[in-house]
Amino acid sequence: MPVLTRLIPSPVVVDIRRGALDDLAGLLADQRISASGKLAVAISDGSGRALRERLAPALPGAHWYPVADGTLDSAVKLADDIKGNRYDAVVGLGGGKIVDVAKYAAARVGLPLVAVATNLAHDGLCSPVATLDNDNGRGSYGVPTPIAVVIDLDIVREAPARFVRSGIGDAVSNISCVADWELAHEVNGEEIDGLAAAMARQAGEAVLRHPGGIGDDAFLKVLAEGLVLTGISMSVAGDSRPASGACHEINHAFDLLYPKRAASHGEQVGLGACFAMHLRGAREDSLLMAVTLRRHGLPVLPEDIGFTADEFVRAVDYAPQTRPGRFTILEHLNLSTDQIRDAYADYAKTISS
Ligand SMILES: [Zn+2]
Repeated sequence: MPVLTRLIPSPVVVDIRRGALDDLAGLLADQRISASGKLAVAISDGSGRALRERLAPALPGAHWYPVADGTLDSAVKLADDIKGNRYDAVVGLGGGKIVDVAKYAAARVGLPLVAVATNLAHDGLCSPVATLDNDNGRGSYGVPTPIAVVIDLDIVREAPARFVRSGIGDAVSNISCVADWELAHEVNGEEIDGLAAAMARQAGEAVLRHPGGIGDDAFLKVLAEGLVLTGISMSVAGDSRPASGACHEINHAFDLLYPKRAASHGEQVGLGACFAMHLRGAREDSLLMAVTLRRHGLPVLPEDIGFTADEFVRAVDYAPQTRPGRFTILEHLNLSTDQIRDAYADYAKTISS
């Protein structure tokens, strides 16, 4: 008997629209996620206060847990604080760090997680991964997919524009990540999941080709949906492969080599993806990506985020070491430092012309 279909771990609810937050309590009750209203809500200690004041009357059964930072220690502390209280669910209400801390804590105490994202900085809001700072830098921890994802576009608009731009870079980078996956399939016979690849690539292409900007609801919706679908593509694949390739290795290298000066995740992966597309000979794609990123105010050259060409070359050189075992265009070409420098000069010339 062949396997006819497969089940995809995915949220029961995806609610992306203006004013979504006002209906949060009703949504949790209607979907039987929390019939009693007993919720543990993780929220940022600073910027989360205003949201708490606004939402508290609608969530009388909720207990509020301020989270200091995005560390593993904070996540473990949150889990310790909420355990034994018979909550129906954990709500992560905030940016990427808060959602990741809540994801990890919810997994630890065996409760479902409701992700309420207040910005669109990266594709982690619906992914089966929590990225947390630990004693050794930064780690990725496997967690269940959120049971619900709520994105209120009115709240997203209030977030600094940088955070929304960062999500654009992360979504668009999928195109390069999937190209890396296909390369690994062709060269090394690495298994590729066609559905996961399709979801991640379509999310990237939709954002890449959308004519709107971060001021438009239509664009924000496509971006938010793209980031949610990217997260689910990682659940389908069983790891971050569909949304993490050479561009993400370059991003990790920036974080590790220049921890104090690193730019946002999306800024670095967008730049990395543009360069990676150029390296693989996809000049047209690299150029289109550069034009789009520029239009949204995202960097396409290291200088745009305060790095010299040499510092970028060093990051590209170091990048493969950040993710041993992952095969991308960087591992495939295995360029010397001089060759990277030449390739970068060619890239800079091409996209500046
Ligand atoms: Zn990413």
